[in-house]
Amino acid sequence: MAMKTASKQFRQLDGETNFTAQLRQAGLRPTRQRLAIAQLLLDGRHRHVTADSLAREIQNTGMHMAVGTVYNTLNQFTDAGLLRRVTLHNENSMFDTNTQNHHHFYDDETNQLYDVPAEEIMLATLPEVPSGYDIQDVDIVIHITPKTQ
Ligand SMILES: [Zn+2]
Repeated sequence: MAMKTASKQFRQLDGETNFTAQLRQAGLRPTRQRLAIAQLLLDGRHRHVTADSLAREIQNTGMHMAVGTVYNTLNQFTDAGLLRRVTLHNENSMFDTNTQNHHHFYDDETNQLYDVPAEEIMLATLPEVPSGYDIQDVDIVIHITPKTQ
């Protein structure tokens, strides 16, 4: 939980120093790959990316990084609390730069996620948790489809 404030704390500092500091604060060594991804994802904007979409974005900046490397780095960032994973179906994970508690609309056709503020969903009841477990997180994905004319 303490990690979640790290990105805000260093936002004032400039350029690479900012990202280097954020990575160190999260316990990650600032390698070239991690810094490249940090610059795209940890600038304070709320975004949802997949390993594929981010690999393309990196390619557009003129740098090459294999999708597998991007995916591993996204997982490391997630484990360090810098990103949040939104599991959609099967292998399809999106990585969310907004690590605060919130929910999503998901358009399967365009593979787009839209944020839903946590306070806009109220759960009237929750099922009884299996014995020996606590609820860690309730993460709601509302699947949406374009209206047909
Ligand atoms: Zn989100």
